[in-house]
Amino acid sequence: MSKPYEIKMPQLSDTMTEGVIVSWEKNVGDAIARGDIVATVETDKAIMDVEVFRDGFLSGPISDVDATVPVGGAIALIVESKDQVQQADATPAASSSADVPVQEQQQTQTAAAPEQSRQPDGVVYTIKMPQLSDTMTEGIVVEWVKSLGDKIERGDVVAQVETDKAIMDVEVFRDGYLSGPMTEVDSVIAVGGAMAYLVESEDQVIKEGVVVQSGAADAEDAATESESSAPASSSTHAFQVSGTASPAARPHNRNATPLARKLAGQSGVDLNNINGNGPSGVITAADVMNNQGQAPAAGMALQMPEANVPGNGRAMSAMERAISHSMTSSLSMPTFHVTVDAQPGALIKASKANGVSVTVTIAKACALAMEKHPTINWCYQPQDKLVERSNVDIGMAVSADGGGLVVPVLRNCESESLEALNDNWKGLLDRARKRRLKPEEYANPTFMVSNMGMLGVSYFDAIPTPGTAAILAISAASDKGMPLTMTADHRVVNGADVALYLNTLKGLIEQPETWMGPTGPAIPEGDWDYDVVVIGGGPGGEDCARDLVEHGLKVAMINDSPFPGGECLWRGCIPSKAWRAAADRIRDRAHDEHLGVEGTTKAKLNWSKLEKTRKHVLETRGEMALKTDKGVKINVIQGFARFENDHSIFVDTAGNNDNPHQRAPQGDGTTGKTISFGCAVIATGAPPFVPPIPGALDAVETGGVLTSDTVWGLQEVPKRLGVIGGGAIGMEMAQIFQDFGSKVMLLEGQERILAEVEPEIAKHLTAVLNDDPNLTIHTSASVKSIKGKAGAMKLVYGGEDNKDHTFSCDYVVMATGKRPVLEPLQLDKAGVAVENGVIKADVRGRTSAAHIFAVGDVIGGLMLAHTAGQQGRVAAANILGEDMKYNQDKDSGVIFTRPEAAFVGLSMDQAKARGIDAAEVKMPMSIDAKAMITNEIHGMLKIVADKKSHQILGVHYLADHADTLIGEGVMMVSGNMTLEQVAEAIHPHPTQTEMFGEMARRLLSRLRRSSRKKK
Ligand SMILES: Cc1cc2nc3c(=O)[nH]c(=O)nc-3n(C[C@H](O)[C@H](O)[C@H](O)COP(=O)(O)OP(=O)(O)OC[C@H]3O[C@@H](n4cnc5c(N)ncnc54)[C@H](O)[C@@H]3O)c2cc1C
Repeated sequence: MSKPYEIKMPQLSDTMTEGVIVSWEKNVGDAIARGDIVATVETDKAIMDVEVFRDGFLSGPISDVDATVPVGGAIALIVESKDQVQQADATPAASSSADVPVQEQQQTQTAAAPEQSRQPDGVVYTIKMPQLSDTMTEGIVVEWVKSLGDKIERGDVVAQVETDKAIMDVEVFRDGYLSGPMTEVDSVIAVGGAMAYLVESEDQVIKEGVVVQSGAADAEDAATESESSAPASSSTHAFQVSGTASPAARPHNRNATPLARKLAGQSGVDLNNINGNGPSGVITAADVMNNQGQAPAAGMALQMPEANVPGNGRAMSAMERAISHSMTSSLSMPTFHVTVDAQPGALIKASKANGVSVTVTIAKACALAMEKHPTINWCYQPQDKLVERSNVDIGMAVSADGGGLVVPVLRNCESESLEALNDNWKGLLDRARKRRLKPEEYANPTFMVSNMGMLGVSYFDAIPTPGTAAILAISAASDKGMPLTMTADHRVVNGADVALYLNTLKGLIEQPETWMGPTGPAIPEGDWDYDVVVIGGGPGGEDCARDLVEHGLKVAMINDSPFPGGECLWRGCIPSKAWRAAADRIRDRAHDEHLGVEGTTKAKLNWSKLEKTRKHVLETRGEMALKTDKGVKINVIQGFARFENDHSIFVDTAGNNDNPHQRAPQGDGTTGKTISFGCAVIATGAPPFVPPIPGALDAVETGGVLTSDTVWGLQEVPKRLGVIGGGAIGMEMAQIFQDFGSKVMLLEGQERILAEVEPEIAKHLTAVLNDDPNLTIHTSASVKSIKGKAGAMKLVYGGEDNKDHTFSCDYVVMATGKRPVLEPLQLDKAGVAVENGVIKADVRGRTSAAHIFAVGDVIGGLMLAHTAGQQGRVAAANILGEDMKYNQDKDSGVIFTRPEAAFVGLSMDQAKARGIDAAEVKMPMSIDAKAMITNEIHGMLKIVADKKSHQILGVHYLADHADTLIGEGVMMVSGNMTLEQVAEAIHPHPTQTEMFGEMARRLLSRLRRSSRKKK
């Protein structure tokens, strides 16, 4: 049977010496998993949780509720199996008998024993040198803030002491009167050593007499004594301890005997790297000696002969010693160096423009680079463990006033904004210079930066300390750039990791606008034909160009079609909605009868009239758009643009024709001209994608398979239509033609239709559409082949029943998504990167070339017209030097089926994926009076809101008229409105908008009730 694990009273605050058991959260016999909270304890500051990091079963003996247990004292046991569990009141085993752990006992002896005889009467508390940092072993009394005889109240600061890192306050959490004997200012006291006393009454105060001086020597004597009486260590080793050596820092989460600490301090050994074999796992001197073989580098350092330097050495200060020890322990780290040069000019300019210090900007850049290379932020933990961390806390060395280095830690660089980090840094810097940092302000950095650029140093490297995997040394910039040298721990990262990290960091430093926003207009100085060239005249390009000319820029918009409008106007949104409008009329007439309106139910479609109207609308809007573009002084040029280099394009006019209804063919380059530009915006869209289904491409050629480019050429309504793809285009087309009278089958390869739509809405819509008499939807269907010719096609597909089926139809509409065609643009000549088949652009529309932007379908994401338009305006703003971002979490969309599916913002799943605790409320359309009157009862509305802030995150629709109802949802989400605001808004009656108020009130009531229950 392995030894039970002792759950000990943890030290939950710097000043905590004991804790009171408030509750047991687990019962004796309960299974305990790593990370479980087993109890709560009251410390000197608050009630806090006791977590356990072992698996097993809770076993007695356990401390009673209300019992006061000293820090480190056992409060219960964890055993391996259920049959080892002892009752709560079992007698403590010999090895765990002491509620006061070995180390605490010894410390009490070491610090207090020599002074026992000199203690005043009526002592209620001994003020001891607190351990104010992980590495602190002793402190220097800088000042007594209170005088002997002063009345002291809980929480008073009585003295200031200098630790190895800073000057800090000594607080007392007892009431009483300050009494001597008291340590002198400037005396060095070991951690735990007595500094002064609190007595009960004023007349007991001893005003004269000074206590102990350094306490350290006494402590060490006592340490040696107590160690020699410890059976585990005394028999086999003779320990030579120098009288002047300082004890090593206490190990984390473990105890070490004073002699072990002393020996470790003398030998420069980090006690965190040693296993303890003393009682309850305490590290003994023997463990330290035995470890010498396990830590070769540290051992080597110890064995190295010390050069006997002539002269009278002065003793190191506490801080100098701490640095010396930390550096010595880093000798055990197998390190290597990698250097990359980066040009810092843009970063310095951007920092200035944003009013933040360059140091902070570099720290933020380091953290952002870690998002891609997280291992740099990990560290090695003895023995053979890696600590993976997501918080990036960067220690940056600062010179303290009067000399010496202090390393404040800028916390959460990964998540805090640049502005917040800058504010934090200002305070840290100020306190660091005065050496007034609190422990939490300098302890445990996860990464370090040392900047000697301002000192004109042309190259240096730095030494990482244990607890980090790397340190970045920044030297002064030369023509080649600013050397960034990383020294890294090879146990955690390898050379390639560091090289990749440095290259990412270099990119962030050289292109700060990609993450800090613009620092001014993006157009570089130069004699360009145009300030900006916009390629593509669809919604993305046109909205961008119009915003740019409005600000006085000289803009050319190159579009291969004779009229602007792009796919949206000529082959997408507008023509499809013209068809939908006709389909709506047919559908609505069928509903008239239930309202008593007769004679309208046998609607008949005149295809050529509809087509005439459709084309008229497109042509009229195309002409209007061109007129407006020219009127606002956009130079609209017809032709196909391709890059010649990063500041010029060739406009190929050889393919130009007058037909705006068909996608323009590319020219052969025989005619055209070169145009130079300061900035470019690529808004070339994405044509339909035809997957490699056997027979598909051939059938596109012969016209049996239609795409969203060619379906507009249909001469009549097909009798039977196959549609492949259950996205927005496929769903709309399928239902339009069913409403026109075609027999339609839609095949979707995925388990569900409409991937961008909220899952319940999409599922419900499938069911409603399947009820349409002439429409069948098959999900999880795989199309095996397409055969035949226009007017007589055969679709072979495998269904959910694992059998092959054939659907005979006149035509097949291929609606399997859209993909940008990038090759003809010759992006490589302009240095524009492509990722996963789309142009890589950030939320500001910026591509890998800082002065070239890309928007709309060509960058992927939601391929919608209003998305392209918004991204166009975002790119224009950034070109003009304003910071604007596209936020997909607030984007919206409507699928124009009957009923319509629509969304704005996040679904529950999406909110959850972003770590938001959200709740949703929904209401069926069938309970709405207006819906009942018009018999439009299918569907539902949903609101998703943040449970805590009540902010509305998303609104989802399956409803007739969702294209109008979505407007209110868009404003809710875009305006960050809360449930309270929607609940209080006065919606007119009778309208379907009343449902929003009703839903908001209902969700609020639910959240109120559930929060009351929790209390
Ligand atoms: C059937 C259908 C229905 C749709 N319905 C909707 C809807 O209801 N709502 C909605 O929001 N979205 C809808 N869309 C999507 C919408 O049409 C697109 O998302 C939108 O048009 C994209 O705009 P864009 O500016 O990125 O590109 P586009 O509109 O495609 O414009 C790009 C333009 O650039 C031109 N071009 C390409 N390469 C070059 C070059 N090298 N040089 C010069 N010119 C070039 C193209 O010919 C085109 O004119 C629909 C799409 C289809 C197919």
